Amino acid sequence: MGGWSVHSVSTPLSLSLGSHSLPKPAYYCCFNYGFPVKSRKAPFCAISIRCCASASKSYNVNKILQAEPEIDDFVVVNFYRFVFIRDPQHEIAKHLTFLKGLDIHGRIYINEQGINAQYSGPSKHSFAYVEWLKEDDRFSDILVQTSPAFNGHAFPKLKLRYKPSLVQGVASDQLLQVDKEKTDILMYCTGGIRCDVYSTILRQQGFQNLYTLEGGVSHYLKTEGPVKWIGNLFTFDSRLSLPPSAYNHETMIEASMTQQASSDKFAKCYVCNSQVSELRHRNCANLDCNFLFLCCENCVMDLGGCCCYNCMTAPRRRPVLPGFQRYKKWHVYRDQKVEA
Ligand SMILES: [Zn+2]
Ligand SMILES: [Zn+2]
Repeated sequence: MGGWSVHSVSTPLSLSLGSHSLPKPAYYCCFNYGFPVKSRKAPFCAISIRCCASASKSYNVNKILQAEPEIDDFVVVNFYRFVFIRDPQHEIAKHLTFLKGLDIHGRIYINEQGINAQYSGPSKHSFAYVEWLKEDDRFSDILVQTSPAFNGHAFPKLKLRYKPSLVQGVASDQLLQVDKEKTDILMYCTGGIRCDVYSTILRQQGFQNLYTLEGGVSHYLKTEGPVKWIGNLFTFDSRLSLPPSAYNHETMIEASMTQQASSDKFAKCYVCNSQVSELRHRNCANLDCNFLFLCCENCVMDLGGCCCYNCMTAPRRRPVLPGFQRYKKWHVYRDQKVEA
């Protein structure tokens, strides 16, 4: 009776929270750019300091452009806000004008219902856009989430445009059997936006006891560390996934210990079901499959980077990717001979 039903909105790796406790109240840490510092522990990571240092109100786009960005100074920024935008095309034009000349790649979608942005860039460029946005009263208190990009841009290019729906539709019939009045439902997603959308829909359908994780798992990892979290967090950009320590440097040691102790419980090879040592997704070598999966080193070699034996004989196969690389466009591989 009335147990928890933990409902993930398509987040590939799962969060296991204690069965009867809600997450502790959120404390915004210094890392959370632009927000008041209410951290219980003194923030000390380099990125925190940089965030705060660049939080000054005055910025100058030309000055920003003069500075040559370091490859390790790239960040990924996420924010969204549901607010009525009377003229989305005018809003888009304003944003495009501001971003002209700034080195920003990513997905920024705007419509009458608001804005949803995920982008990467040198930290100065990335935060200049945030500062500019916050000068608008509609966005002045927006929750901005940042994480390190490690290796330059996490998105191939900038897509800033009108989109009829700010989040992708997800059909779920998992809740059909659930008692709408008695069951407590905890929803979570990566950055919070999908829970905002779908909790509204579920409330309209009569669900009474809905809880959502504010700011999503990324905000949870930032404020709480890897408490009760196993594995990495999927990121929906070229980084694929990040360890909890990327969101909260203080918990790095704690995180690696948790991971060692409990990763065998869930991180299985998609092909042979053995435990994987590297929590890193890869795309199937068959371009026409491109399935994203976890795979052990043995199966990577045995199946030539494919997800199954069928894909091994597909016409558009690519070579096994070494290390943490991503596949490039098909023409790069088209004329290469791949051993069957
Ligand atoms: Zn395997
Ligand atoms: Zn495949």
